[in-house]
Amino acid sequence: MTEITGRTAIWGILADPIHHVKTPQALNSLMQERGVDGVLIPFHVGADDLTALVSGLKAMRNLKGFVVTVPHKTAIVDLCDDVSKQARAIGAVNTVRREADGRLVGEMLDGAGFVAGLRENGIEPRGRRIYLAGAGGAANAIAFALAEAGVSLLTIANRTLSKSEDLRQRLAENHPSVPVEIGTGDPSGHEIVVNATSLGLKEGDPLPLDVTRLTPDQTVAEIIMQPEVTALMAAARERGCRTHPGRPMLACQLELMAEFMEMRP
Ligand code: NDP
Repeated sequence: MTEITGRTAIWGILADPIHHVKTPQALNSLMQERGVDGVLIPFHVGADDLTALVSGLKAMRNLKGFVVTVPHKTAIVDLCDDVSKQARAIGAVNTVRREADGRLVGEMLDGAGFVAGLRENGIEPRGRRIYLAGAGGAANAIAFALAEAGVSLLTIANRTLSKSEDLRQRLAENHPSVPVEIGTGDPSGHEIVVNATSLGLKEGDPLPLDVTRLTPDQTVAEIIMQPEVTALMAAARERGCRTHPGRPMLACQLELMAEFMEMRP
């Protein structure tokens, strides 16, 4: 536990429920390693009280920022004073920095964490054809980060077609030079295949795509962290594909969060 001094800076994380969230442990360890005189505290807040809490946080001069997770990532957008263009287009914010004058600046780092994780593992998405399964919160953030990274094609395949269409529309408005298509369960013809659905989390979940269409020249990336090797990854390995696990997305994102919220000694 950090020794609290008169200068200890405070960061927070907003969630409901909060007991299972591991970000406080991870970011507090990171601060200790780096000698930051600061502490990150879990704030358990329900949707009805979010506005009141955020207004209080603005008034706290030793609060430097906060992480935002389920179920507040969308509602927080309108409570920030300034939001990046990308977070605005995604419609969600997961990291907020409090400026010295109390202004709250929001950013969405889920997708940037995913792309940084790929790169750390030697997988470069620029110029690649990407198949993205999912159009939920994580998939939205990843789609925008991949478009930002300059992929040559993004194919979105989601169970609910209207969500794929909506995502394609917003990508077209914000990244007009990136071709976006709506796909089926068939990932063939893409160099990188990404599972950004929640399928794979529970035993017995159906596979998010048709694995019989995978070929050894493809890389299959997961965002599911537990189990470490999902059924999709196991099937992809059997077909000779390179696989990339879900964990690096979070690890890289913690770094990006610390940087954005200026967790410095
Ligand atoms: P959402 O609820 O916003 O989206 C869930 C997605 O999964 C949607 O595309 C949904 O399709 C799809 N889906 C769910 N059930 C089925 C099904 N039975 N058949 C087909 N598609 C299905 O969740 P999030 O995007 O916020 O999170 C998704 C997962 O990402 C989480 O489970 C979490 O584990 C993981 N995650 C990992 C992170 C990391 O750092 N590695 C960070 C954030 C999330 P539809 O639109 O049709 O409902």
